[in-house]
Amino acid sequence: MIPFLDLKAQYASIKTEIDAAVLGVLASAQYVLGDEVAALEREFADYCGAKHAIAVNTGTSALHLALLAAGVGPGDEVVTVPFTFVATASAICYTGATPVFVDVEPVTLTMDAAKLEAAITPRTKAIVPVHLYGQMANMDAIKAIADRHGVAVIEDACQAHGAEYKRHRAGSIGVSGCFSFYPGKNLGACGEGGIVVTSDDEHAKAIRMLRDWGQEQRYHHALKGFNYRMDGIQGAILRVKLRYLEDWTEARRAHARRYSSLLAEAANLETPVEAANRRHVYHVYAVRSRDRDGLQRALQAEGIQSGLHYPIPVHLQKAHADLGYLPGDFPQSEAAAREMLSLPIYPELTARQVEQVAAALRQDAYVD
Ligand SMILES: *Cc1c(COP(=O)(O)O)cnc(C)c1O
Repeated sequence: MIPFLDLKAQYASIKTEIDAAVLGVLASAQYVLGDEVAALEREFADYCGAKHAIAVNTGTSALHLALLAAGVGPGDEVVTVPFTFVATASAICYTGATPVFVDVEPVTLTMDAAKLEAAITPRTKAIVPVHLYGQMANMDAIKAIADRHGVAVIEDACQAHGAEYKRHRAGSIGVSGCFSFYPGKNLGACGEGGIVVTSDDEHAKAIRMLRDWGQEQRYHHALKGFNYRMDGIQGAILRVKLRYLEDWTEARRAHARRYSSLLAEAANLETPVEAANRRHVYHVYAVRSRDRDGLQRALQAEGIQSGLHYPIPVHLQKAHADLGYLPGDFPQSEAAAREMLSLPIYPELTARQVEQVAAALRQDAYVD
């Protein structure tokens, strides 16, 4: 069996350090925020090339607070893409604003900047590009349009720790960038976690207050805040893992190159493209096929797990039917939802496993 993800293998590889980190927090009794979380914030801000980082309890909370700090609220519109995890749109809804979708580019599956301007109205307060699968969106074009309209760009970098666009790290181009530390992400906690990075002092200050009941000083609540604090244990674990992130990312990239070369001749599927001037961190390695479901069955027959990211675009989700979108509104997102198949990819995957997955896919290609 080849699992889609193997978190036990990652834990086994660094068990001594993780166990020591957890025991350290237990002994310190700094269970919520505390020194380990503060150190993680400094180290992750450095990693992203940003001035500040504010750790929170989930990636969704990171998006929610980044939007609030940008002044997003009821009556506003926030432009994003429908081909993403539902949390991107949900975080916009939490603020009382309305998500407005633009379709994705056919190859990178990130926001199509050529369609962005038409979605901007006098109510638009922010744009949230999603660095899907670990590849950054076309940030120059998006930023130019945002600047022209005086609208904030908030990066949904929840899948893109360490990704780069023209040597700028994910999270460092917009006014803020939001990351998830959900266990399966490229940098994952042993539980939930998230973080916002920003180089704007005012945004950092607001986000820091909002995650902790809107207080700067205990029991003085200047803002209507939330309990979005990170656990001390997660902070300590994430600090250990952050030291391995570059090696893990290079391992993912090597697996991706190997997959792409082994699958180059497969007639019935397309492999992912790393766009020029970008560093793709392959949170997801997804192939594209008209016979996606057939390929998934062929893998399953060989005991190989695969995933669908994502089978239903957000504009067609029942939960967001109130937005009034219809099938056909975003053809690229809808086609991607039908055709994308995510293969196992994680640092601990072996070269032999990559070959087995590719062989199972090629077999199917020959039968067709
Ligand atoms: C994982 C993810 C989120 C949400 O992060 P959580 O930590 O699960 O709340 C948001 N957007 C994208 C694109 C994600 O992949």
